[in-house]
Amino acid sequence: MEKTFAIIKPDAVERNLTGKILSRTESKGFRIVAMKRVCLTLPEAEGFYHVHKERPFFKDLTQYMCTGPVVLMVLERENGIKAWRELMGATNPAEADEGTIRKDFAVNLEKNSVHGSDAPETAAFEISYFFNPAEISS
Ligand code: GDP
Repeated sequence: MEKTFAIIKPDAVERNLTGKILSRTESKGFRIVAMKRVCLTLPEAEGFYHVHKERPFFKDLTQYMCTGPVVLMVLERENGIKAWRELMGATNPAEADEGTIRKDFAVNLEKNSVHGSDAPETAAFEISYFFNPAEISS
């Protein structure tokens, strides 16, 4: 079993897609081992996306992540990191495969509905950024 970190981003929460996304997540065999719905502060979003701080879209991205509530989750499954990235689809929804969350729900490249860790090290950092070990129950 492998844990990954996921976010249902503000565009999806705002459009009441939380339940649909959670349903797809569980139906693909992920266990939701931690979850909370919060509004991020700008410093929290900036810290979370620190690897992108030199990118031209950093300011827009971090501001967008604070436009409304998000759902933060730790997911667990066999090959969880790769499997969740596959279920999300490509970063740009225009390039995402049929049946992926981003293909079906994302608005555009920025408002792409979900986040997922891209490697074991980032998953470890991202999980610990938002959750205490006591909040995670496998
Ligand atoms: P991910 O791992 O698929 O989420 O993609 P990245 O790590 O490359 O980018 C992080 C997030 O930044 C994406 O999910 C988008 O929300 C946003 N993003 C990526 N590229 C762009 C861009 O060119 N412009 C804008 N405005 N946002 C972007």
